[in-house]
This record gives sequence, C-alpha cells and structure tokens, in this order.
Amino acid sequence: MKTEVELKKGLPTNETHLWNAITRYNPDAEPTVAVSGEGSWFTDENGNRYLDGVSGLWCLNLGHGRQEIVDAAAEQMKALSYFPLTMNHKPAVQLAGKISELLGADYQVFFSNSGSEANETAFKVIRQYHIQTGNPGKYKIISRYRGYHGATLGALSATAQANRRVKYDPGVPGFLHVHPPYSYRSLFEGTPEETDLKAADLLESTIQHEGEESVAAFIMEPFISGGGVIVPSVKYIQRVQEICKKYNVLLVMDEVVSGYGRTGEMFGFQHAEGVQPDIVTMAKGLTSGYLPLGATAVKSEIYEVFKKQGKDNHFRHVSTYGGHPAACAVALANITIIEKENIVERVKELGESKIGRLHLLSDHKNVGEVRQAGFLVGMEMVADKETKEPLDDEKMGSILAECRKCGLMIGRNGDTVPGLNNVIIIAPPLTSTEEDLDFLVETVESVIRSL
Ligand code: PMP
Repeated sequence: MKTEVELKKGLPTNETHLWNAITRYNPDAEPTVAVSGEGSWFTDENGNRYLDGVSGLWCLNLGHGRQEIVDAAAEQMKALSYFPLTMNHKPAVQLAGKISELLGADYQVFFSNSGSEANETAFKVIRQYHIQTGNPGKYKIISRYRGYHGATLGALSATAQANRRVKYDPGVPGFLHVHPPYSYRSLFEGTPEETDLKAADLLESTIQHEGEESVAAFIMEPFISGGGVIVPSVKYIQRVQEICKKYNVLLVMDEVVSGYGRTGEMFGFQHAEGVQPDIVTMAKGLTSGYLPLGATAVKSEIYEVFKKQGKDNHFRHVSTYGGHPAACAVALANITIIEKENIVERVKELGESKIGRLHLLSDHKNVGEVRQAGFLVGMEMVADKETKEPLDDEKMGSILAECRKCGLMIGRNGDTVPGLNNVIIIAPPLTSTEEDLDFLVETVESVIRSL
C-alpha cells in the first residue's frame, strides 16, 4: 500500500491501489491528484490550476463550491440521514414534483443513483408496461450506433459503441441498433435535414422488419454526447416521435448529459417543439455532480398501469440508496440555483457569443466540423478535409496534452467506434465566467492553429 507521503512524490496513478475508470494502464503516466476546486477550476496536489473544460464527466454544471448545495446536504443529513423510498420522504416528493413541472407534463419519478441505473429502470418499466397492457411480445429496445446509455449490462447493451462492448458481449438479449442522424458521415446523400430524416426512416423500417408486435421502445440521447457530440436537426426528433406513436413504441429520452441546461434548454428534447417523451432519464446535471442521483420520469398514463390493484401489478424494483434524502435535497438546491440565476438563458447567450467562436476554426485544415448545442461542443478532427480521414490517435492525444500544459482540460470521444475517436469534446460548467470561456476558446484556438 502506498502511503500518502509516497503519493506526494508523484508515483504514477497505476502504482496505487486505485483502479481508474476507462484509463489505459500506463506505468509512466503522471498522476493527477485533484485536491480542491473553485468555480470551473480545480487544483492538483502540486498547486497547478486547470480549467475543467468537460465539467468532470459532464456533470459539474454549477462548478465547485456552491455553499447553498453544501448546506442543503448537511442540513438534510442532520434532519433525516437515510430513509428508503419504499415509503416517502419530503425531499423526494418535492423533487419528483419539480422534475414533472420542468418536463412540462405529468410524470411519475423513480429515483436511483446514476445514469446507468436510470436507464435500467426505464427498460424494466417498459417491458412490464407492455406485458400489463396486453402486449407481452413487445420486448425489443432499439437504440442508435454511437449512443451511450451506461456501463451496466442492460445499459451497455443499449450502448452501441463496439469498443466499449467487445470484451463484455454478449449483452442482454433484445437490444437492437440503428444508424444515428450523423450528417457529417451519413449513409445518405442530401442536406443535413434530409439525411437526418432518412436516418429516422431507418427506425421505421427496423420496426417493420422486426415486427411491430415485438418492439417495445426506442431510446435516444437528444444529442449523442460521448459518442462524438452529434447534433441532429429538430425534425429528426419530431419524426422519431411520430414513428414511435404509430407503432406503440415508447420513446425514451436519455437526458443524462443534456438535461438541466447543458444545451440551452432545460432538457434537450425541448429544442423540438411538440415532442414529449414517454420516459425521460436523467442524472449528472440533476445534482451538478455534488451527490449521486439518477431519475427515471415516466408519463403518468404509463404509471397508471402500475397503480392497478392486484399483487402482480406493482413495479418490483428497488434501489437502497436511490433517491437518498441528501441527494434529493442537493438536487432541489441545484435546480433552485439554475432557475434563480437564469442558467438556461445564460447558456444560450454565452454559448453563442463566447463558445460559438470555436466555429471560426472550421477554416482550419484539420477541423472537419464543429458541432454545438449550448455548452456542449464536438470538433471532429480530420487529416484531410476532402476524404474526411480521421486525425490520427497521436495528434488527437497531443491536442489534449497541449491544452493541459496550458491549464485547460478538454476531452475526446474515447472508445467509440474503431478508427473514429477523433472528436474533441468541450463541455465546461454552465457557470463558467466570461473570462473562463475566453481562456478556453483562446487556448483551443492556439493549440489547433499550431498543429
Ligand atoms: N447516458 C448518457 C447519455 C451518458 O453520457 C452517461 C454517462 N456518461 C450515462 C447514461 C450513464 O451514466 P452513469 O455514468 O451515471 O451511470
């Protein structure tokens, strides 16, 4: 066991007892040991400060150190340290009501601890719902290539990214995938809107080929995030809803990344007028990462089916810590700040005036496309603009490393599709100051211009 003193000498992370998430073993890696944070910045044990351009794992939406959130957790822990949601506690009841209000329709909310669990919960609700409404053959769940829905086996089965699955397959039976609306590398010819609508048609033909009596649900991120920030045209989302309704296929919106203001609306689906998903899953921005919390919001009409009397009608699903009183109190404090400080408006405005400047880089020979929704940006990097050959792994790595040397942490779409790990990802805290955003944009600009 390495002692703290030894750690301070700068031993590589891989030489401690900590098993890092999705990080390759590298005995020469320089460890980052974060010790404190303030706003959008964190400081490591050597006193180096970094602007966190990806909000941790896209979750630290309000930045570090919000006293109101810290107080809400402490007060709740003192008042009622734990209580299971087989019964009620006030913060969970209040939060469920608030989430339903924000979603703009009546939803019943089931709490868990993470985005993966929120999706697992949705999958079980979906299968049971169809059984209890006389369609027991409807069990298949369709998702999209490049989509990410979580790390647990059900959520991973919906995650259609080969490299994340290959050593853990076969996954859960009954999960199918269709092509996303990815106009930059579309299967189809036409304008982005035309190719996106053709991608929606693929959903319809898949339902027909599989047999509508076997298809239970379609799950999508409004904006594919970890899979490379893919921004669809609004008409795609509207068309998908029409198709789902036509075939009695439940529409699940995975708002784990896009929820709570990230894209310039409270939820990503709210960019598409008239769209109201059957189920919305969320985590991350729900608490701004201060405590773990996931939520599965289910349209009240669907919940009605679970309310019927009879011993087999209830939802046989439980999570010991899901909807922990302190996590719910933190989420309520988080939402209060988002509303009081007009964070959604702020994201819209500064997304355009500050972060939007990244579009100017589109003229660079290695920038294939800049895609943006509010404070969520993907820059698809290519070796050649004509052939769209992806920028190689080494150059991608050096862009991130150079930014890091300048004090900026950004990300990339790690293990998404073999050979297509070429999207730079930028998603700073939604409270980043204008100076923070200037620093972010200028640093990325100068690193890319020096390629
Ligand atoms: N859905 C989406 C869209 C995500 O990006 C993630 C996590 N990055 C998840 C689900 C899973 O969330 P968690 O890591 O909290 O399980």
